[in-house]
Amino acid sequence: MSGSGPAHFARLDAAGFPAFEPGHVWLVGAGPGAPGLITLLGYHALGQADAIVYDALVAQGLLDMANPEAELIYAGKRGGKPSPRQADISLRLVELARSGRRVLRLKGGDPFMFGRGGEEAGTLAKAGIPFRIVPGVTAGIGGLAYAGIPATHRDTNHAVIFLTGHDDTGDVPQGVDWAAIANAAPVIVMYMAVKHLASIAAKLLAAGRDPQDRLAIVARATGPDQTVIETTLGEAGGLVQAQELPTPAIVVLGPVSKYREQLDWYLGARRENDFG
Ligand code: SAH
Repeated sequence: MSGSGPAHFARLDAAGFPAFEPGHVWLVGAGPGAPGLITLLGYHALGQADAIVYDALVAQGLLDMANPEAELIYAGKRGGKPSPRQADISLRLVELARSGRRVLRLKGGDPFMFGRGGEEAGTLAKAGIPFRIVPGVTAGIGGLAYAGIPATHRDTNHAVIFLTGHDDTGDVPQGVDWAAIANAAPVIVMYMAVKHLASIAAKLLAAGRDPQDRLAIVARATGPDQTVIETTLGEAGGLVQAQELPTPAIVVLGPVSKYREQLDWYLGARRENDFG
């Protein structure tokens, strides 16, 4: 068929996709890991960018798809190197754009979901740099889907809460009304929550949440080594203190993890994965 292969993808320009202008910054969500989970617009940007500033959670498979001429700039922490300060990353984006490059800021999941995308875009706005946000599949929805866990189901929940387990000091967030959170929705999806899970669980229990509530931890979601641990709210704190869990991980509290029994489709009997 004539429509397959790279030539087909080059036609994204013709299909009405916006041109990536020099001097512009695109903040692009890479999705939770598996390269196939980036959007078409994100893929289009990868092919056009001159500079790609990427985070630790971005899969190598995606960088391999980038314009081979693009400069790849790492802005995450890994391998024991100190992480660049957020302000430095934002200023770097400004400088790269001012030098006339097409700057792709590639971030894990969705750039506006616990990803500091709002801060980076704020710096660009203040500096007068034109930018675009390309949303992505967030780990708290797409990562759960790969574990056979729907974020909502008509039989269990009409609401879902997204919570971060860290604030910018690295502690459990102080500005959260734990009593309200505990009782507002049957399902709470938690990012960056494993480290402080014992303390978060204690706060939710103190606010009246049932210790028997299901809790699942989905680590390295969508990757070839995705692992899922199922426990209860009452047991979760002890479990994370007793063993080192793989990261990154999403924690989901509430009845929706029971659907895994039926819906756990990924890494099934054939052990196939999305990394080929
Ligand atoms: N913007 C990202 C979240 C960044 S915060 C998004 O929308 O997904 C980083 C946290 O995201 C991690 O601590 C973890 O809780 C979660 N996360 C990101 N990728 C993940 C993955 N592949 N598997 C499990 N959790 C993931």
